[in-house]
Amino acid sequence: MEQRYNDFGSFLHRIFPFKVQKISVNAGFTCPNRDGTKGLGGCTYCNNQTFNPGYCRTEKSVSEQLDEGIRFFARKYPTMKYLAYFQAYTNTYGELEALKRKYEEAITFPNVAGLIIGTRPDCMPDELADYLVELSRRTFLLVEYGLESMLDRTLERINRGHTVAEAEDTVRRTAARGIYTGAHIILGLPGESREDILHHAAALSALPLTTLKLHQLQLIRQTQMAKEYANHPEQFRLYTAEEYIELVTDLMEQLPPAFVMDRFVSQSPKEWLIAPDWGLKNYEFTTKLNRRLAERNTWQGRYWGIFPKTA
Ligand code: SF4
Repeated sequence: MEQRYNDFGSFLHRIFPFKVQKISVNAGFTCPNRDGTKGLGGCTYCNNQTFNPGYCRTEKSVSEQLDEGIRFFARKYPTMKYLAYFQAYTNTYGELEALKRKYEEAITFPNVAGLIIGTRPDCMPDELADYLVELSRRTFLLVEYGLESMLDRTLERINRGHTVAEAEDTVRRTAARGIYTGAHIILGLPGESREDILHHAAALSALPLTTLKLHQLQLIRQTQMAKEYANHPEQFRLYTAEEYIELVTDLMEQLPPAFVMDRFVSQSPKEWLIAPDWGLKNYEFTTKLNRRLAERNTWQGRYWGIFPKTA
């Protein structure tokens, strides 16, 4: 099928002459939006149960987790190489030397070809960014920031603990250092209309991003947001998969063609998920999305630079 958006797999293929696979690593970091450093209580959509020392301070070292992950894939793909993905919590939150040790442990592990670091935009001090410049000269490095919304009123409502201005500044500082810089956005946060979501496209387009990851809002059990939903379901707009595909398509039409679209959906464990439960795997979603892009005869970047488009 004709590719109508700039996909992450092709991006990796342009960089690496071999197949690469992400392996999620829980490096045992915590979160400044829970321990009082940046805020208390955390983001309203974040599950408290998964944020406890027992879960977070995993017993397994970075190397052990990589070893397990690589063994799993290597049976089927013996020549494959791997990207260590520090995904859980805030992976730049800690003492610089401790952070360095974890990153270095990952990149020196056999068959690891690079590193992806997920973090908050208010957790990138200059000294760390300087070290990451040096690291990015030795290996593939992508720093992925959870921006979640490009509206301050939403960030406040979800208790995110940072502003849009802080997020934009950090993305610019990181990209200006020559580091691949990614963003993560949640579509469907409470209080955001379709027009608000399309506004995100305009705000994101002004940023020097390499990659963009979109996720549908998922309501997770035992979160502050789950309580809000129980009390005021009318304040939430939960999309069906088909509606979400239309929204993603509308958004992508307005994004720069150069943004690499990393992912469109997230899948929380069924036992934690309240709604929406689409029952779609990632590849099933992208198949549907590709089909809809073709039906609409549209593509990423079609209306890029022509803002606002809200009709
Ligand atoms: S979503 Fe991330 S930043 Fe927010 S409370 Fe949870 S771990 Fe912390």
